[in-house]
Amino acid sequence: MNCPYCRNADSRVVDSRVADDGVSIRRRRQCTACSRRFTTTETASLSVLKQSGAVEPFSRNKVINGVRKACQGRPVTDHDLAILAQEVEEAVRTSGAAEIPAHQVGLAILEPLSRLDEVAYLRFASVYHNFQSLTDFENAIGRLRDRRSNTPQGNQRPLTAE
Ligand SMILES: [Zn+2]
Repeated sequence: MNCPYCRNADSRVVDSRVADDGVSIRRRRQCTACSRRFTTTETASLSVLKQSGAVEPFSRNKVINGVRKACQGRPVTDHDLAILAQEVEEAVRTSGAAEIPAHQVGLAILEPLSRLDEVAYLRFASVYHNFQSLTDFENAIGRLRDRRSNTPQGNQRPLTAE
């Protein structure tokens, strides 16, 4: 990145830290020509490999659109969905991979969605896991119930680690 003051192309990093959102890094740089300092923000590119074989950039909006239908008629706000999409992005980025399979994004949606709204979770999980029978629903509901009764609030066992 060119120095914003003198357009020199070379700079050195004097400080870098992870931004509050956890997914980007802010770097303080010093221009090697004019010695002035400026800040850059870096976010690693993250691609999603679809089942069709197509690759597209990860998009929080796509996550939100994918979940919105399951949330129809439920007390879930746009703000809730924005937070959920952020959690999903942070979860998939922790793998460190630059390209992740689409089903891994779906998997990362299940846990925060189950905390947000159990009905929306069951709707989404039934499509994602391709539920075929009442037993599939019963098992999923059973896991939600177990988690409610066995674990204290705020320290919930993941549903998806199976
Ligand atoms: Zn400069």
